Amino acid sequence: MCTDKSDKPREECGIAGIWGAPEASNLVYLMLYGLQHRGQEGCGIVSWDSGTFHSIRGRGLVADVFDQHNLVELKGAAAIGHVRYSTTGSSALKNAQPLAVEYCRGNLAVSHNGNLVNAEEIRHELEAYGSIFQTTIDTEVLIHLIARSTKKNFLDAVVSSLEKIKGAYSLLLMTNDEMIAVRDPQGFRPLALGKLKDAYVVASETCAFDLIGAEYIRDVEPGEMVVVDKNGLRSLRFAPAVEQQALCVFENIYFSRPDSLIFGTSCWKARQSLGRILAQETKVEADVVIPVPDSGVCAAIGFSQESGIPFDMGLIRNHYVGRTFIEPSQSIRDFGVKLKFNIVKDIVAGKRVIVVDDSLVRGTTSRKIVKMIRQAGAKEIHMRLSSPPVAYPCFYGMDFPTRQELIAATHSLEEIATYLRVDSVAYLSLEGMLAAMPDQKQNFCQACFTGNYPVDFQKRAAKSGMCVSTKEIEGDRITNL
Ligand code: AMP
Repeated sequence: MCTDKSDKPREECGIAGIWGAPEASNLVYLMLYGLQHRGQEGCGIVSWDSGTFHSIRGRGLVADVFDQHNLVELKGAAAIGHVRYSTTGSSALKNAQPLAVEYCRGNLAVSHNGNLVNAEEIRHELEAYGSIFQTTIDTEVLIHLIARSTKKNFLDAVVSSLEKIKGAYSLLLMTNDEMIAVRDPQGFRPLALGKLKDAYVVASETCAFDLIGAEYIRDVEPGEMVVVDKNGLRSLRFAPAVEQQALCVFENIYFSRPDSLIFGTSCWKARQSLGRILAQETKVEADVVIPVPDSGVCAAIGFSQESGIPFDMGLIRNHYVGRTFIEPSQSIRDFGVKLKFNIVKDIVAGKRVIVVDDSLVRGTTSRKIVKMIRQAGAKEIHMRLSSPPVAYPCFYGMDFPTRQELIAATHSLEEIATYLRVDSVAYLSLEGMLAAMPDQKQNFCQACFTGNYPVDFQKRAAKSGMCVSTKEIEGDRITNL
């Protein structure tokens, strides 16, 4: 967590690692390519080569930061990497991961996906005792805790440190002796384990394995620590299985790639079912179903299959526009929508059009898209969202704005339709969303829809600096988080 309030961290990330393969950094580089959708603003790789760590981190896409010359410097048979969707500004590079340090026990590198909800408290406590932090990200507290641990054994030091942190963490740790994959007890973020010949690989999503030809074995379990070293693989539990896991349902709705297995099941299947159930719940007569690409494609296909209304690509996305450019201000964000999307007029002109997207956040993208479809001559426009209304911010690693900026938190359905200038707007129900998940035994975090936060926390409000807790957010007394 960030202590500098102007430097709000956004911790949508992807992680990947491999232990025991020649040219490990090349393989991690390829895996990061496969995980690029999880973070476009920074990336890094740390490799291990007979006792020496090599590190390259930078701002931008994987293709911007790495090339054949600098990859050669990342020698060794083990490496971990990270892609990050973070803040802009001068501090971005110092916050790039993997974090790598040399301390009393030797070398340690850490890649983290998620968001620790008590990092600020731990950091203040450590700083009071003289700790000096190099970054403003939450992940660094874990390194301090491990370094300060009085446990003799390194794994015991890791376990005692993990016992102190709360929130969402899928982690990769690398030392001179091992690579360790960890997933928090609630299992918020995904983390998959695979094999490539004799080497073990770990990645946020299985699409990274497909790219390098690795075989998916299973997920790292919530509360599990998988240790890979010269003796092979060991599984340890650092926390008992919690009664109710809290897998992030938004990974299946929006964030992950549809060709990945997420939480062990097909993300594509989940999204297609979301679209099918959406069609059942929000029937409307129309001539064509078009997705907002890429996020709405799978659900739109499911919607079309269920409703029998033809699917078509009425919107074309320019894939060469990065999120980086679109980020800073509202005016540039508006302009960015036109850069990103264009209409195929023949598909929408004179038609009753159903537009399917996965979610509404601020509503800005949809409003612009609707305007363009209208200008292209659509007769009616019906907006359909393959998730329930996003009305609460996420504190476990998904980048949503403050509650005030979330359109569903501040507007009724009617007001949203008026704002978007659509003939109708309808969301998927909470029950419908859960029914679409391929494994009905799994439990999902739904905090962004319900405000029920599965892990309690205290958080400093961004503007006032005032301390608030989950309880207050749930009670709706604080709306500007
Ligand atoms: P908005 O215009 O603010 O309503 O944004 C809606 C678009 O943002 C949809 O197309 C979503 O796919 C996408 N989206 C949803 N969640 C996120 C997120 N956490 N980060 C970035 N984009 C998102």
